[in-house]
Amino acid sequence: MSARETLSDRTLHKMGAVLAGFVRCGKPNCRCARGQLHGPYWSRYWRDAAGRLHRSYIRKAEAAAAVKDQQRFREADQVFRAFKRDNWREFRRMREEIRKMVAPYQLPKQRGNR
Ligand SMILES: [Zn+2]
Repeated sequence: MSARETLSDRTLHKMGAVLAGFVRCGKPNCRCARGQLHGPYWSRYWRDAAGRLHRSYIRKAEAAAAVKDQQRFREADQVFRAFKRDNWREFRRMREEIRKMVAPYQLPKQRGNR
């Protein structure tokens, strides 16, 4: 199972996926040519509004914090989704109220690149 398969596109879209990668450098005599790959190199993947996948590298010193942040996000997201599932009527009512409350203050929607 690849790391990609463990994360839904939904999660990717909302905060990105923090994943470790292992690479071959290509030098024929290197240990990686015998299967001992270099890494882990950590990256954050995310999708933009158009669905394109982006990647940015995460410094080694920041990898553990990034993984922890993502775990926390996923747990909070699960709680939120469970709440929505169990209270969808109330949730929809609240969402409508919030929309009405913020509507007068909203800027017109941006079009094109930001
Ligand atoms: Zn190598």
